[in-house]
Amino acid sequence: MAFATADLDSAPPPLYVNAATRPELRGVRVPIYLDYNATTPLDPYVLERMLPYFTEHYGNPSSVQHAYGWAAEAAVNMARTQVASALGVRAECVTFTGGASESINTAVKGIASAYRRKGRHIVTVDTEHVAMIKTCQALRRQGCRVTFLPVDCNGLVDLDELESVLSPDTILVSVMWANNETGVLQPVKEIAARVRARGILFMTDATQAIGKIKVSAQDADIMVASAHKHYGPKGVGILYLKERIRVPPLLHGGGQERGRRAGTLNVPGIVGMGASFEVACASVTDDGLRMRRLRDLFEGIMCDALPGLRINGRDAPRLPNTSSLALPAGAREVLSPKALGAVALSRGSACSSAGGAPSHVLRAMGLQKDEAERTVRVSIGRPTTEEEVRQAASALIRAAELAGAKAQALIPDCQ
Ligand code: PLP
Repeated sequence: MAFATADLDSAPPPLYVNAATRPELRGVRVPIYLDYNATTPLDPYVLERMLPYFTEHYGNPSSVQHAYGWAAEAAVNMARTQVASALGVRAECVTFTGGASESINTAVKGIASAYRRKGRHIVTVDTEHVAMIKTCQALRRQGCRVTFLPVDCNGLVDLDELESVLSPDTILVSVMWANNETGVLQPVKEIAARVRARGILFMTDATQAIGKIKVSAQDADIMVASAHKHYGPKGVGILYLKERIRVPPLLHGGGQERGRRAGTLNVPGIVGMGASFEVACASVTDDGLRMRRLRDLFEGIMCDALPGLRINGRDAPRLPNTSSLALPAGAREVLSPKALGAVALSRGSACSSAGGAPSHVLRAMGLQKDEAERTVRVSIGRPTTEEEVRQAASALIRAAELAGAKAQALIPDCQ
């Protein structure tokens, strides 16, 4: 059974953890999970598809001599077809990896190496995921020229500015489809058209877009995604490379994945990736509508209660599930884990939260350090209910008001 996607009040699915689904937790305060951009629970349907490949069909797909290997290979082929048909591309162009970070590293380092005779210039954006930023910084240390494009206050790239930095030695332009912190959607189709018209490869990180909006890989030469962001397992990613694009592998060893990525294939994970793509493709329209209604409800409640609140990226096209909110001045303490105990959300991306530094994405959008520090990211998921959204909004408002009152009491000049 896949997660319910019907109406706003539908009961949470069986594997979703709250007091209703886990009676032993009654009386224990389980935070409301609103951090679906960090990761998602495994869809029960996806788990069901994966289970036989841990126990019954445990063969190695590279074992071409016997039926155990054939069964595993058939499952991998099936998953590849599911991913490819969801993205509208050919199955041979899809490589399975250990996640989006690995796919990004493989693609960008691989292009830098394979196309070094053509040029050494890579273009990307200030607000990309750290996997892209750090990969580009590493390449810069090896002699590549990297342009990080700025964004406007809504997090959008200027297309003319992008075009103006392209030069004869530009080999790759990479722009993420949807931002993980703000949900801002870049105009990837238009960017792809301009970049490809100049004979330059266009790559997009679609990790946050899959399952939330309709995504096709046909406009891109290279695309990456990760199963755990759309109710699949952790530790599995895809790298789509258009026909005739060859990059050297990041991992050397056996000739798995047509020599593109060595190592025994994670068959249960790959089966889960295929099934999660299948579900994402089938439910993206309903999920999108439902999440948008919940997100708008949440933002409406928050804006009504907290006049100084700002929605980051408000005027840009955004993912239907993501709300990046700069809370009113003085509300910084709302971000302490104690104040946020009732709601599991994030300050920025899960990765930047761990580092504790103000978000590079918000800073690139022009937010001051303190505005970035009092920003919270709420990301709604398929299992989220209206009641959860209302409760989370109340908890955040209470915490923000308390923190604001405390700050005013401490600094009389504020009045
Ligand atoms: N790209 C984006 C936009 C992401 O949100 C993430 C995960 O946070 C990644 C890449 C990295 O994905 P993975 O966890 O599969 O390495």
